[in-house]
Amino acid sequence: MTTADVDVVIAGGGPVGLVLALELERRGLHPVVLEPRTGEIDKACGEGIMPGGLAALHRLDIDPPGHAIRGIRYEDARGAVTHRYRSREGRGVRRTALSASLRAALSARGIDLRPERVERFVHDELGVSVNGLRARWLVGADGLHSRVRSEAGLGDADRGMKRFGLRRHYAIAPWSDVVEVTFGPGWELYVTPVDASTVGVAVLGPKGVDLEAAIAAHPGLRERLAGVDVASELRGAGALRQRTLTRSTGRIALVGDASGYVDAITGEGMRVGFAQAEVLADCLARDDLPAYERAWSRSTRDFRLLTEGLVRLASSPARPAIMPAARAMPWLFGAIVERLAR
Ligand SMILES: Cc1cc2nc3c(=O)[nH]c(=O)nc-3n(C[C@H](O)[C@H](O)[C@H](O)COP(=O)(O)OP(=O)(O)OC[C@H]3O[C@@H](n4cnc5c(N)ncnc54)[C@H](O)[C@@H]3O)c2cc1C
Repeated sequence: MTTADVDVVIAGGGPVGLVLALELERRGLHPVVLEPRTGEIDKACGEGIMPGGLAALHRLDIDPPGHAIRGIRYEDARGAVTHRYRSREGRGVRRTALSASLRAALSARGIDLRPERVERFVHDELGVSVNGLRARWLVGADGLHSRVRSEAGLGDADRGMKRFGLRRHYAIAPWSDVVEVTFGPGWELYVTPVDASTVGVAVLGPKGVDLEAAIAAHPGLRERLAGVDVASELRGAGALRQRTLTRSTGRIALVGDASGYVDAITGEGMRVGFAQAEVLADCLARDDLPAYERAWSRSTRDFRLLTEGLVRLASSPARPAIMPAARAMPWLFGAIVERLAR
């Protein structure tokens, strides 16, 4: 069969898959999203949408409810350094709230979102047959453990240190408008305000990293959260690092975490995924998927270099030097935060 039912089948209705659907629809293409989970989708995430990510949502007329984020504070037991964003602000948004906003936008624009999982597909030079649909392209937006990536043979082995993340919410009014990051011994703890009465607490670290133990080791946070109700179940994700050989082949492309992920240490996943979705939509609208590889590299360069650099340092014997260096050179810390927030 050569006639396509739709232009693009997107496997995965996480934030990046849904943003891609909206970007494609804006360019006059006909996407369908296949996502097995129904309702408002939750995920272990620090839930900080950086200024560039919020701007990308605003360009699509999406304004998810949440709490302003006006900067980042890094601290350890000996002190802190804070950088406040120079111009735009970001937003802490519960993943369920983001999912609801994006799903409403899809529905308002008449974009089809089907409760299906992509397992297998057949592809040739003209298109892809997947779940009974014939499409000109298939995009894997199916997260860290992407099925599309493995089926298409685009994954690459990684022998580096494996890191994982956990997150839970607490029913307490936020006390800050910055994301607070604490460097502990082997883990990093993130506190993000997500609405007027809730903060999210996430931890990153090696296999077995324990959120409760990290909170207990942080005297300030332990005191604040003592007796406070938990407001969500504990969720985990990982291994975080996922490598790809290339981001597309034939009529198949990868976007978001599925296209390769470094680490959540800089809280950039959604901003970078939205930027990838925008350039991928441009390439598909021009019928020029081969151009995506370079566009993907450009749109992820800072994330790959700076996040890779920081996670390598944080996993090395030089880890104890990170916070003293950030405190001694607040201008450098600020420049990196600004660069990543774009
Ligand atoms: C602990 C932690 C903290 C983080 N903190 C931040 C932060 O503060 N800010 C930030 O921007 N990023 C953060 N991130 C990263 C962020 O969560 C991800 O980058 C983001 O979720 C990527 O979105 P995505 O749509 O690519 O993938 P996902 O959100 O993982 O969505 C993928 C979707 O695909 C679906 N799916 C899976 N398999 C299939 C299949 N076979 N067929 C169809 N659908 C499928 C899944 O159900 C899921 O809904 C953090 C990550 C972790 C783990």
